[in-house]
Amino acid sequence: MDNIKDIHEAKRLIIFSDLDGSLLDHSDYSWTSALPALERIQREHVPLIFCTSKTRVEVELIQKEICITDPFIVENGGGIFFLQDFGDIPDNKAITLCGYQCVRLGTPYETIRSFIKYQKKKFTIRGFGDMTVEEIAQLTGLSAEKAALAKERDFTEPFIVGQKQDLVGLEKAARNEGLRITKGGRFYHLVGYGNNKGAAVRIVKDLYSRSWQSPILSVGLGDSMNDISMLEQVEIPVLIPHDDGLYENTYLQDLIKAPYPGSKGWNHAVHRIMDQIIPGT
Ligand SMILES: [Mg+2]
Repeated sequence: MDNIKDIHEAKRLIIFSDLDGSLLDHSDYSWTSALPALERIQREHVPLIFCTSKTRVEVELIQKEICITDPFIVENGGGIFFLQDFGDIPDNKAITLCGYQCVRLGTPYETIRSFIKYQKKKFTIRGFGDMTVEEIAQLTGLSAEKAALAKERDFTEPFIVGQKQDLVGLEKAARNEGLRITKGGRFYHLVGYGNNKGAAVRIVKDLYSRSWQSPILSVGLGDSMNDISMLEQVEIPVLIPHDDGLYENTYLQDLIKAPYPGSKGWNHAVHRIMDQIIPGT
């Protein structure tokens, strides 16, 4: 993509970002290599909207560590949480959850768990709700404290299967129940049908555009299949490679391919984009 400056015009910038494998390194969840770009984003007051499969409480911790308070999208688009009042949230989707103004796109977690409990009779499926904190810590490389936060779910369920061929039957059963399966960096995720990152990004862009009364120029950074719907919705999509240097397969043509995996690639791509939009910062 060579025309970033041309499409910038008088638009205001928003950055949407996946966390695991994108801003956070796949192996140890570090974002140290992205610190220069994070500081630049904060200096320029550019909203940084996390758009992740992580839970609300996991994102709260990361936001606190990075010192940001922007809205955030959790559980693959299951919910959008706002600290400040955005006013125009569509009534049919607005709820108050844990003190936040929240847009709920996902299915209640109890419904998702009921499906898994039933399917366990036929398939080798194990969700986070079936696992101990220690098991999740082992599978993810998270500390026990952080693994416990990953279990506090509102809308979706990460899972593994003992036999890969079970996925075909599970996908069919999910469809019949108005659910679907998507894939992140480590796990499959069982999500509600209207629950995807792209739908959530569209809502956030629309709310900012109305709040600012200005057109939006949006950047999206992601590394996995579950990020593609987010990358479809932004003007400047950025694909981060996996740790082995390979990129997720996508039909999206006009995207920036970050040259490195994880936070180093994230840092490089954000600088490249901001150099063209807000040079000299
Ligand atoms: Mg990822």
